[in-house]
Amino acid sequence: MTCDFCNGGDPGWFYPAESFKVSALLESEAGFRIEDLLGSDSGFMACEPCHALVEAEDRDGLINRSLDTNLLAHPEMIEDAPELRPVIAQMFEAFWNHRRGAGIQMRKRTHE
Ligand SMILES: [Zn+2]
Repeated sequence: MTCDFCNGGDPGWFYPAESFKVSALLESEAGFRIEDLLGSDSGFMACEPCHALVEAEDRDGLINRSLDTNLLAHPEMIEDAPELRPVIAQMFEAFWNHRRGAGIQMRKRTHE
């Protein structure tokens, strides 16, 4: 499982949301495409830092974090960053509009 906001691993939170789909197409000279990968069936998984941003309703912070982590994972997309940002913004806007209620913690920390 990965965080639906930043693609980071080990998400500990789940935000229920109505299902939605955001279609997007990005094409660079290298032919890199993103198509229909944006969407949600039941909600968003969130890692600890993204959860904190959602709780703070830091919408710009969430977009910046996602953009940073995506570019870190896909350095070849750096030239597409100006196009990628509005796509991410659109995706997260859909999340804010379709979100249902508070985040749910997926697992309890053990205190030993
Ligand atoms: Zn995350």
